[in-house]
Amino acid sequence: MIEPGGRIGILGGGQLGRMLAIAAAELGFTCHIYCPEENAPATDVAATSTCAAYEDADALARFADSVDVVTYEFENVPAETARILAEHAPVRPGVVALATAQDRIVEKNFLASHDIPTAPFADIPDEATLVEAVARIGTPSILKTRRFGYDGKGQARIDTPADAIAAYEAIGRAPAILEGFVHFEREISVIVARGRNGATAAYDPVENIHKHHILDQSLAPARISEALADKARAIASHIVTDLDYVGVMGVEMFVLGTDEGGPRLLVNEIAPRVHNSGHWTQDACAISQFEQHIRAICGWPLGSATRHSDAVMTNLIGEDAHDWARLAGQSDTALHLYGKAEARKGRKMGHFTRLYPLGHAPKTLR
Ligand code: AMP
Repeated sequence: MIEPGGRIGILGGGQLGRMLAIAAAELGFTCHIYCPEENAPATDVAATSTCAAYEDADALARFADSVDVVTYEFENVPAETARILAEHAPVRPGVVALATAQDRIVEKNFLASHDIPTAPFADIPDEATLVEAVARIGTPSILKTRRFGYDGKGQARIDTPADAIAAYEAIGRAPAILEGFVHFEREISVIVARGRNGATAAYDPVENIHKHHILDQSLAPARISEALADKARAIASHIVTDLDYVGVMGVEMFVLGTDEGGPRLLVNEIAPRVHNSGHWTQDACAISQFEQHIRAICGWPLGSATRHSDAVMTNLIGEDAHDWARLAGQSDTALHLYGKAEARKGRKMGHFTRLYPLGHAPKTLR
């Protein structure tokens, strides 16, 4: 166990790193942030920071030598960076989890080999394979780059077989995955934690609404049956256990309605880190996803994932954040701002969570 007074290294200086550092401070830890950007949001709330490239082996070694454990707030940590860090300090979640979540084919193969349902998919190394896979999987389908995709970037929809080559061009002919298009009823996610002793704790599934490919709102709990919610939690716990994972993970799922042979769940993607769709836990649970992650990587017992209130979390994107004074005046609303100076279009500036008594979440979102 890493005791209070210990130092946690966080790779990445964005809002997730910032909220991890705040949660770490609540348990008596200090943080050292490592990121290539000057004045990153996480550095405002951390004891120490290093501004250096993720390829700077000397700076990485010095950083890892100065902390008791290293974690990260984004999944695209280069494999070589993780390897160097792991020579100097424990890296949690581990390198296997990182390698699995970084590559959509490795991720889907992992899920399939552990009997976790996903959309039909195919590995696309070249154009000929794409044409054959579109014929087999059918249309509509979605072509996604294997690596570095986020918020809908690196994706192209294929509506007819004749669209296949244009879609391949649109993603820059990068190594890709083809997925059957899922006619989902709703999108949900489960935030799950696994401790060093193998114990797991899964929060209630939430329902996610996207706007312009960016998460807009999360509704806690998701509008699904208790039986399906249990199943979603069980799938998420199964994934972290099979990966021998330590820390918090976000598991995104599609819910299929009765017209698609449901209700049933397909896993879309896993994120080996705290997740935007888990921000509601800061205000609607005794132990937030951020504290839970710190507990897990420090070898502490996990806290309860019980929800004491219903909640709607809304992201403040770009100029939305200018509304802070009005939001600050609203009752039952917790405002979280990330300290970013410039409200650029599409940039996550903060979020707010509105609380409701259990069972009284709004039935419709905006
Ligand atoms: P992803 O980057 O995989 O999380 O995809 C971003 C968004 O695209 C998801 O939240 C879904 O709304 C949509 N999407 C991704 N994959 C599929 C799929 N196979 N079928 C239908 N919609 C999808």
